[in-house]
Amino acid sequence: MDEILKEINEKIQALKSGSSRKNVGKIVALADGVARLDGLSQAMYNEMIAFKDGIFGIALNLGETEVGCIMLGDTSSLNEGDEGHTTGKLLSVPVGMNLLGRVVDVLGRPLDNKGDIEAKEYYPVEKIAPGILPRKSVNQPLQTGILEIDSMIPVGRGQRELIIGDRCTGKTSIALDTIINQARINKEGFASGNKDFRPVYSVYVAIGQKNANIARTIELLKKHDALQYTIIVAASASENAANLYIAPYAGCAMGEWFMHNGMDALIVYDDLSKHAAAYRQVSLLLKRPSGREAYPGDVFYLHSRLLERAARLNEENGNGSLTALPIIETQQGDVSAYIPTNVISITDGQIFLETDLFNQGVRPAISVGISVSRVGSSAQLKAFKQVAGKLKGEYAQYKELAAFAQFGSDLDARTKAIIDKGDRLVEVMKQKNNSPKAVEMEIAILWALMNGFFDDIKVNKISEAEASFEEFMKSKGGAVFEKILQQKKLDDDIEGQLKEICGQWKKTFA
Ligand code: ATP
Ligand code: MG
Repeated sequence: MDEILKEINEKIQALKSGSSRKNVGKIVALADGVARLDGLSQAMYNEMIAFKDGIFGIALNLGETEVGCIMLGDTSSLNEGDEGHTTGKLLSVPVGMNLLGRVVDVLGRPLDNKGDIEAKEYYPVEKIAPGILPRKSVNQPLQTGILEIDSMIPVGRGQRELIIGDRCTGKTSIALDTIINQARINKEGFASGNKDFRPVYSVYVAIGQKNANIARTIELLKKHDALQYTIIVAASASENAANLYIAPYAGCAMGEWFMHNGMDALIVYDDLSKHAAAYRQVSLLLKRPSGREAYPGDVFYLHSRLLERAARLNEENGNGSLTALPIIETQQGDVSAYIPTNVISITDGQIFLETDLFNQGVRPAISVGISVSRVGSSAQLKAFKQVAGKLKGEYAQYKELAAFAQFGSDLDARTKAIIDKGDRLVEVMKQKNNSPKAVEMEIAILWALMNGFFDDIKVNKISEAEASFEEFMKSKGGAVFEKILQQKKLDDDIEGQLKEICGQWKKTFA
């Protein structure tokens, strides 16, 4: 008898005590990626709710009797009546260098069959944006490699520049060209061995795109050797709305890691129109009241809290930056719709693309008149400012006169000169996608244009001339390019050399 009692006592002693509070609820309704749960009285806003089979949801609606939860990933194995419990954790994703070169889902899980991602750190997907004090103003350029943008709508590190336009106007191409250009600069910078070189890493967030499109993007980046500096976060059109809603925040967390560690990063949200639509869907399923265009009332906050996380931090905070290029798709060029106006007001400028221009073959189809960069020009290279300073004004003047000149035949000499120059400017600005230019080349091209070296070339021969000029500069321009990059501004010496080389080139292109 004693034996038995002793044994029982020992067993009781060995029992592990200690409690963890777990609040358990039951699914009462589950459809379209949204679940309503009964009994989860202790859930926090944005808390991860765990279900069976490793499925997670996020508590978004905290009601008196019910909790509304958006479901991540595939929920086909879940049924009404299944249990879910609180985890005490906010949704987090892996961050760090190991994610570069990878394609991941919104939880940071690999989608590319390249094996597990080892992450030392995790960041919550929702984070309060840096306040005012740790920031500083944008003062370093971020070259897109697209001549028209770098000269007239320059982007700086830490800026938020919106790319906006109708379907199929080249929005994605501008963002991808920027990523490709940064990869090219990274490669050259690392090869140069310069200790002060600051690479730019990219995060591309694909929201609601077709899988085939995402695959094409991955191939393109691979082909240009840019994938190794890029993280791709994919939430394709086939996934439920909750994944699309989380995607940009997850990508942002990955980009923030670079910024917080003193590095520079670029993030592309392609695109936020689909993001807003996904959020609308989630909200309607959660039975939240809807407002203008059936979007919920907090749709402004949806994008402002995301874009405010892009920033330029000051020296005390590590000097890192996160530049954001959000993309918005408009319907018939209507920028005054709800989502476009919201995002325009949150960003530091917009690159506006037009279908008409695109169809006329003016590509990139940027409408210069209504495109602006409100902070980037203070980051523009001095040399660039010297050649491009008056460009936008001249362009505007040309547009005005060109529209007017259609009606009259005899023009005075001055008007004709402006129109002739403008015609050539438009031609020079045309640029194929996936062929970003180096900044020193952009400066040389503009210098040649502004100093009359293209004036006597027929308009329809300009692109040919530009290509030949680039070839010539690549073989003969090494010395002057180096000087431009070193001094960062043009002086008499450099301009003399440019003049000399341009003259030589002109003789070869007759
Ligand atoms: P969507 O609305 O489908 O997302 P989008 O506005 O993102 O389209 P892109 O996919 O970038 O547009 O480009 C549409 C097409 O135009 C592509 O086939 C692309 O190759 C072509 N294109 C884009 N930019 C240029 C360019 N500068 N020169 C020539 N072709 C271009
Ligand atoms: Mg696109």
